[in-house]
Amino acid sequence: MENFCIVDGHCDSLIHFVNGERTLQDPSQGGHWDTQRAKLAGISLQFMAAYIEEMYKPVMATWRGLQLIEGAHRFIADYPDQVFLVLGKQELQQIPDPARIGILLSVEGGEILGENLFMLDIIYKLGVRALGLTWNQRNALADGIGEFKTQSRLTNLGQDVVLHMNKLGMLIDVSHLNEAGFWHVLELSKAPIAATHSCAQALCSHPRNLSDQQLRALGKHKGVVGVNFYPQFLRETSRTRREDVVRHICHIAEVAGVETVGLGSDFDGINEVPEGLEHVGDYSGLLEDLIKVGFSTREIEQISSQNFMRLLTDVLK
Ligand SMILES: [Zn+2]
Repeated sequence: MENFCIVDGHCDSLIHFVNGERTLQDPSQGGHWDTQRAKLAGISLQFMAAYIEEMYKPVMATWRGLQLIEGAHRFIADYPDQVFLVLGKQELQQIPDPARIGILLSVEGGEILGENLFMLDIIYKLGVRALGLTWNQRNALADGIGEFKTQSRLTNLGQDVVLHMNKLGMLIDVSHLNEAGFWHVLELSKAPIAATHSCAQALCSHPRNLSDQQLRALGKHKGVVGVNFYPQFLRETSRTRREDVVRHICHIAEVAGVETVGLGSDFDGINEVPEGLEHVGDYSGLLEDLIKVGFSTREIEQISSQNFMRLLTDVLK
């Protein structure tokens, strides 16, 4: 099989590093993601999320977010021969680096801003290049998908955040955002957006998944959806296998165009994994499956890396 590069739009490994549970270097320490297996699998760029856990919200959210960002810098500084921070177009051009994995720092949850727009400038200066406006709850920017009864659009602050992210050159992530918020972001944003770790609702009716209408709109706006490997998003019943991820990839490609499909494993953020796709080292099996179901080499390159690379080139400065 050809050597494909992989861009993974979401993992939660950073928390494990910051909590001192793992070095993210050594597969024998467990978990889904480490530099050793990621490099062998062909990961050229990994989005690393600073996911702010519920226990810190709302009062300690900024504190926790900054602690995770500091942890990401420590991780990158500790292993300069293995990873490097991606800040803009200049670093994107270095991908794929023959020896190192690019790290794109993202924050999952607008609570980090503490309801202040200036905090967006601060986290930008700290190297954050993607922000999920919400997790599942409501915050000062918008409603997460857990607030399904309200159908609220973005708040005034949420709208300001979208426009300011456009100005700074940050990627807006709508993976956990409610549907009304999703449409509001698409209406407002001058740059394409991403759902970095979501699947197709037509195949699995979960509120975290996107309807065909949403997928189509995302594609029309040159956005990307990173297919999530979480079994509960892949299939409603019975055990899930790698082929379920392939089904979602095929569906999104069919509905929204192959140029809209990416990968967003959610490794180290999910407590179950599909059979055959149990850690970052299993990516090669997934790519082989894509060949088997008839995607061309060019299409697999788009899905595995080029769509996210195009999106980041469009958005980052
Ligand atoms: Zn998430």
